Amino acid sequence: MSKSSFLKSVESSFNRAGELLGLSDDLLEKIKVVNSTYIVRFGVRLQGKIQTFTGYRSVHSEHFEPVKGGIRYAPCVDQDEVEALAALMTYKCALMEIPFGGAKGALAIDPQQWQVDELEQITRRFTQELAKRDLINPSQNVPAPDMGTSETEMAWMADEYKRLHPTDLNAWACVTGKPIGKGGIAGRTEATGRGVQYILQEFFRHKHDVEKTGLSQNLDGKRLIVQGLGNVGYHAALFLSEEDNCKITHVIEREGAVIDASGIEIRKLHSHMTNTGGISGFPGFVESGPEILAAEADILIPAATESVIDSRNAGDIQAPLIVEAANGPITHTADSILRDRGIVVIPDFCANAGGVTVSYFEWIKNLTHIRFGRLQRRQLDSQFKAIISGIELATGQPFPSKNHDEILSGATEINLVRSGLEDTMRGAYTSISAAWNANSNIPDLRTAAMMIAVDRVAQSYVSIGI
Ligand code: NAD
Repeated sequence: MSKSSFLKSVESSFNRAGELLGLSDDLLEKIKVVNSTYIVRFGVRLQGKIQTFTGYRSVHSEHFEPVKGGIRYAPCVDQDEVEALAALMTYKCALMEIPFGGAKGALAIDPQQWQVDELEQITRRFTQELAKRDLINPSQNVPAPDMGTSETEMAWMADEYKRLHPTDLNAWACVTGKPIGKGGIAGRTEATGRGVQYILQEFFRHKHDVEKTGLSQNLDGKRLIVQGLGNVGYHAALFLSEEDNCKITHVIEREGAVIDASGIEIRKLHSHMTNTGGISGFPGFVESGPEILAAEADILIPAATESVIDSRNAGDIQAPLIVEAANGPITHTADSILRDRGIVVIPDFCANAGGVTVSYFEWIKNLTHIRFGRLQRRQLDSQFKAIISGIELATGQPFPSKNHDEILSGATEINLVRSGLEDTMRGAYTSISAAWNANSNIPDLRTAAMMIAVDRVAQSYVSIGI
């Protein structure tokens, strides 16, 4: 599928939701269009010559500011891809009730081809270009990591921004996904994968939705295919296998797949990738790749890139439940084919919203300049201790040690982040499931989610007279 059809796919689901909402065409048009896309070409002297790079920052909607969205490093990015991703960010933030507009950025680069110090120079220069136009700014435009970027690039960006704005007290809030030592927040790196876990757990609490897949009512023991063992795919696979007793039977990567019907040891496979640069050579490795998406399994988690399920393979997919951990892994045509076949899809802008949710917490932490839980933790400890000793005194029995430790582990930053993330993911799934089940004209969860998101953006525009 061409890149431009990714944007068309997002717009098609928008159009379907718009029709069902019955909003006026002019308002829908205003919401749908991408407000602006900045394309910059800049040079960096590397390896003895000037190398020219192309960067993008697209702002889809400024109904809330700052606008928010990751920065992707990939060799073949283009304007349509960045605009599609920016639009998804608007709907994602609206669905999760996060007060941000939608944006996305990219640099057309293969990060594998550059040394770390070269990548740092390129990233710092890109940051300068964005800063000139306030396309990185704590109150207007806040990037985060995405495909090909991590906390390392975010630390360089934040540091460069701080150098350019040395007196800005809130400078560290200019990007999220930073390392903890540079103003990051506990749990951000794992957040998107953790969110995928929470959304699946919540799906299995909705018995009626599970019935539609024909699966048994428990997440425990389910067989999963995961495509892409990067940040999102690794954490989702790790938590689902280690904490929910799912079996990851297939992992698909660029160079092939690993298959093990008894369940792949995700930590071991990930260390193998870190040590060797890929999955080849791991027990169960096969050279075949994308066709494994259609292997027999209970749940399919595409967590790599867009448009991997299209009109050519949608008819072959066997898993009755797909969780879109990546952005846009299913094309619009494939989506209709899957729907007609009764396959349930939890859409990307709900399933992978864990990252932006915890980014929101990080941004608040940066603006308040205090770690979550820092003020109240010891005070809560003494209150709980007093309650526990009161109960022990009244009953004459020691308080069970397991509950004792759990209560006193209290309000650490990671506990608070996980609590806020779980609550947000559960709330979002519950709202889209309720909409889907309440109205027979709503064909699937994607349309339900889009209707909720678009309606919220529309209300926001209408309230300011647009
Ligand atoms: P990443 O770069 O950390 O990992 C991507 C992984 O997918 C890599 O291991 C790569 O080798 C593999 N891959 C790429 N193309 C592939 C293909 N065609 N077939 C098989 N494997 C392939 O990226 P990430 O941050 O994990 O992002 C993955 C997806 O999740 C993207 O669509 C991204 O936009 C989306 N997403 C990421 C975040 C986040 O917080 N990082 C948040 C929301 C959505």
